[in-house]
Amino acid sequence: HLGDRSSAFALQILDECASTNSVLLDTPPADDGRVHVVVTERQTAGRGRRGRQWQSWPGASLTFSTLWRFAPGAPVPAGLSLVAGLAVVRALEKLGVSGLQLKWPNDVLVNGHKLAGILVELLPGRGRTPAAVVGIGVNLQLPADAQIADQPGVTDLGHHVSPLPERNQLLAQLLAELHALFDTYAAAGFAALRGAWQQRNAFADLPVRITGEVQEIAGICAGVDDDGALLIRTDTALVRILSGEVSLRSA
Ligand code: ATP
Repeated sequence: HLGDRSSAFALQILDECASTNSVLLDTPPADDGRVHVVVTERQTAGRGRRGRQWQSWPGASLTFSTLWRFAPGAPVPAGLSLVAGLAVVRALEKLGVSGLQLKWPNDVLVNGHKLAGILVELLPGRGRTPAAVVGIGVNLQLPADAQIADQPGVTDLGHHVSPLPERNQLLAQLLAELHALFDTYAAAGFAALRGAWQQRNAFADLPVRITGEVQEIAGICAGVDDDGALLIRTDTALVRILSGEVSLRSA
């Protein structure tokens, strides 16, 4: 399923682990020219941003991480979670899911409900080629009694595509799309993908507020710029938000 690049992928399949991102961060694989991927059936301590939890259920979720090595000086990490989100959307669109939207910087939604989450973490260089670990969690078919903290709007693939794609096929499609877009990102920067991202912007032209800043910022979501920074039009200015340490909410 991985097409021309299949021999370039090294897949580690674990029955259980705390977090697939942690596996790659704690024991970074050798730089052998292959794309390293960790996928697990049971993730016991999945993370979101800033210590938040990512919940998954064996058999009901797809949780994996992939390592992307980038050239020093590449336009990394700011735009990378946006690129990953776009890749997830494209892969799912190819499998027949419609109504997919992106929420800056790292969520994939359908009709405002969260379908997949992305967590990008940098692997310190320490003399090696710098790398980013990109973790993806996709809800496939959540148990009816699944309770997800602080997130009323949650959905799964089972609600949007029938029959549900086979998990191996879904993983292959996601990996192919992710690494194709990472290559585009490395060669041409986020500018080359900005238009495609904005087409799926869940908050395009809508009133939003940014929390997590010392002072809350409220305005109209004016998309993203060529670096992947979020643009908010307030009454007085166009504010550019590059940091991921803030949260976007509808106003
Ligand atoms: P932000 O807008 O700042 O990114 P977020 O709520 O999207 O906020 P993330 O760190 O991206 O935060 O993701 C973690 C959050 O996702 C958790 O706090 C929880 O609310 C939600 N969550 C956890 N597991 C799932 C899941 N399987 N499906 C949907 N949402 C989940």
